[in-house]
Amino acid sequence: MALTGVEIFKLLPKTNCKKCGQPTCLAFAMKLAQRQVSLDQCPDVSEEAKQKLGEASAPPIRPVSLGAGAKAVKMGEEMVLFRHEKKFVNPCAFAVEIKDTLSAADAARKIEEAAASEIDRVGQKLRVDALFLSNDSGDAAKFLELAKLAAARAPEMPVIVSTTSPDAAEASLGQFAGKKAVLYGANAGNLQAMAEKAKAAKATLGIAAKDIDELCELTEKAKALGIEDMVLDSGARSAGEILRDNTYIRRAALKKNFKPLGYPVITFANRPGDTLLEALVAGLAVEKYASIVVLGTAEKWKNLALFSLRQNIYTDPQVPMQVQQKIYKIGEPGPKAPFMITTNFSLTYFIVSGEVENSKVPCRLAVMDSEGLSVLTAWAAGKFTASKIAQFITESGVEGELEQKELIIPGYVAILSGAIEDKLAGWKITVGPREANGIPAFLKARAV
Ligand code: SF4
Repeated sequence: MALTGVEIFKLLPKTNCKKCGQPTCLAFAMKLAQRQVSLDQCPDVSEEAKQKLGEASAPPIRPVSLGAGAKAVKMGEEMVLFRHEKKFVNPCAFAVEIKDTLSAADAARKIEEAAASEIDRVGQKLRVDALFLSNDSGDAAKFLELAKLAAARAPEMPVIVSTTSPDAAEASLGQFAGKKAVLYGANAGNLQAMAEKAKAAKATLGIAAKDIDELCELTEKAKALGIEDMVLDSGARSAGEILRDNTYIRRAALKKNFKPLGYPVITFANRPGDTLLEALVAGLAVEKYASIVVLGTAEKWKNLALFSLRQNIYTDPQVPMQVQQKIYKIGEPGPKAPFMITTNFSLTYFIVSGEVENSKVPCRLAVMDSEGLSVLTAWAAGKFTASKIAQFITESGVEGELEQKELIIPGYVAILSGAIEDKLAGWKITVGPREANGIPAFLKARAV
């Protein structure tokens, strides 16, 4: 049974040190009781207390991995219903369905399309994360061929093996040993056998229920059979059912600490022949609590829309996206190359660096930590000042790489040029364009 806030408080260090981000240990205990924080946020809690807190410290939605290695995906561990309360933690995985009724050539093409889906957006690598291998034929031999094809063509991609046949499951899971696959398809008729196959292969068990009531029964039975890692399918398929069931599951796990539903959710957005509807349903699943979203296809237009949505939903709305403070080299700048500065708001960096690349003029770009604010906002907030710029440039050591000590500042902060010259002895400060789209012409004009 869950502990109350006061019971948890008795087990905390009671130093009110605030390292957990809460004003007092009691405040932390109350939040822990409501699943709004995790115990590991208190660095001083004793091992004994950790043990005693037991379930109270366990995340309400069990963390489960999909895949292994660099492309592994983490699921679960969510703590809130709404991202304005606290950021959503583990971005959902997109999985593309590959049916074993496809010809080998068509299946290979789809697998390779999914494996080649990666794009770079504001500094993050975004991709279709997994393959959903579907035993549509019901033929174990065909399914094994598909599993072999996937293992050969996309060896790093996480895999969800979908079948209701324990024998087909065993054979195909053998292709993904050590890769933490999901075995999806455990239902009321095959649960015990599928649980055994999942345990033997160290796979996560995907529960395929008809409705929420059956889902609760099946997860409890699977738990009794020794299954720890599960993903949940309530049987919802229409957009309305997905919204209803996914919300119910998340709410029950977080607000009621209802363990039978405390696992990541798999949602089926695939709509054969209607990719536009598929994109819409997948968008709903991204926003409403799916940890795996199954798609029918991986077209680039749809990927871009869904990747962008996921990236935005899973960023912290209270923290602007930022890039690392440092001197970035664009092209191969020599000692005479221009040296520019901007702030570390991701969008600012990627727009500015993109325009520098467009100019084809090799350049050094100083990106200064402004806590993720754009140039004008950072200046107005006192985070992009002459003193701070001078300190950053001096400490960067870039001076030794330059023939002429000249710094190009954004046109929007031309007002800082005199003050920076005062702080940076021996430097010439040049005012660059106000807008990033003026950078190519500006740099090319200097290069002639
Ligand atoms: S970090 Fe731990 S000891 Fe410090 S205030 Fe938070 S709960 Fe108390």
